Parts: sequence; structure tokens; C-alpha cells
Amino acid sequence: MEKENQYDYTRKGEKGRVCRFCGNKNGVIRKYGLIICRQCFREKAEDLGFKKYGG
Ligand SMILES: [Zn+2]
Repeated sequence: MEKENQYDYTRKGEKGRVCRFCGNKNGVIRKYGLIICRQCFREKAEDLGFKKYGG
């Protein structure tokens, strides 16, 4: 096996349940067609065109 798997979610059948940015499985939000954890959401929200929380 020379290929590197960034995340091993495929073998666990959890594909699509992890953050697409950092691979975090905790607090993953699946809204707006995104699959992103809350932490990344807060960081990426502006880049993605979303408004901040409590802005
Ligand atoms: Zn993330």
C-alpha cells in the first residue's frame, strides 16, 4: 500500500460524516450542502460567504 489515505473513514463506512476540511468527526454540520465541523465552520464561514454567528 503506497497510497496514503488522508482519513480512514472509507473502511469504517463513515464516508461523508467527517469534516471535509480537517476530518473531524465531532460536531459535523451537514447544512447548506456542506459537511464541515463546527470549528472549521466558524473559520471558513466568511470564506464560504456565510455570516458570523452572533455578528
Ligand atoms: Zn473541520
